[in-house]
Amino acid sequence: MRTLEELTRPNVWRLKPYSSARDEYNGAAASVFLDANENPYNMPHNRYPDPMQRELKKELSKIKKVRPEHIFLGNGSDEAIDLVFRAFCEPRIDNVVAIDPTYGMYQVCAEVNDVEYRKVLLDENFRFSADKLLAAADEHTKLIFLCSPNNPTGNDLLRSEIERIIREFDGLVILDEAYNDFSEAPSFLEELDKYPNLIVLQTFSKAWGCAAIRLGMAFASQEIISIFSKIKYPYNVNQLTQKQAIEMLHRYYEIERWVKTLKEERGNLEEEFAKLPCTVKMFPSDANFFLVRVTDAVKIYNYLVGEGIIVRNRNSVSLCGNCLRVTVGTRNENERLIEALRKYKV
Ligand code: PMP
Repeated sequence: MRTLEELTRPNVWRLKPYSSARDEYNGAAASVFLDANENPYNMPHNRYPDPMQRELKKELSKIKKVRPEHIFLGNGSDEAIDLVFRAFCEPRIDNVVAIDPTYGMYQVCAEVNDVEYRKVLLDENFRFSADKLLAAADEHTKLIFLCSPNNPTGNDLLRSEIERIIREFDGLVILDEAYNDFSEAPSFLEELDKYPNLIVLQTFSKAWGCAAIRLGMAFASQEIISIFSKIKYPYNVNQLTQKQAIEMLHRYYEIERWVKTLKEERGNLEEEFAKLPCTVKMFPSDANFFLVRVTDAVKIYNYLVGEGIIVRNRNSVSLCGNCLRVTVGTRNENERLIEALRKYKV
């Protein structure tokens, strides 16, 4: 691996971060706070939240078994995706490599940050080749993006290939595990201490059922996390989000139940889809959604909209011609979908 200094943009490496009032005084003992120009009348959100989300990280640390210094929290994992570009990629000079198809925000953030985005096509079974990804990288490649289970294809990437990328690439590897809770594959969080160039992304938006609160997680070496903390907005995770997330962490066992049910429902839905006349091919899923090739994705998408049911049309995505991406819902929602598709005339 190149050194972190070589991988970080020089302006970011040199940056002296903004120091907020609550960074400078973060003890609990005081009772008169006249340091942050807040309104003293409490309705009850008059005070700035903890800029480093210490209580939340402490609780999260117990569940994820990762020390708080290795955790960055942001406004969705989308914030962490944007931060990796801003921290490590020099616009118009550096580039990144990613599998294709995958989650669209990696490319959008690359374009916003004026960083070349190199796509390496998966094979027809949506597997990737470490050799091909490494061959697409050069001395200006700072990041490689992997997503497992991948969106929109739904499959886990092969662990041995992921490991090869982490071991053989001399830049940083972003492994997006947004859907890992639904997979049988162990998370790479357990490997964090072994790989100083690995950044694992997870989110509260999927298994945790908290898409509305916007809370994403990045796990990496303490040095990488310090760089994120240096360039993030001072109060990037609001108080309501921190409070709600702590509450959800205390209800961990309920989330495990949801995940179990959703995996069972995924199995039922896949079984029913396989019998539908409009289904051409099912792709195996390790996530809370699956990809299915149908006779005519545009027509079926529009038909379902007419029935008040919205799925995702992925027809124009690479390798996903005539494919729909279907999120697993409740038993009742899934039955409504199947019923509507049974009535559809191919
Ligand atoms: N990564 C992947 C693979 C996703 O599919 C999504 C959301 N669709 C995200 C990240 C973004 O998650 P968040 O809500 O945490 O920004």
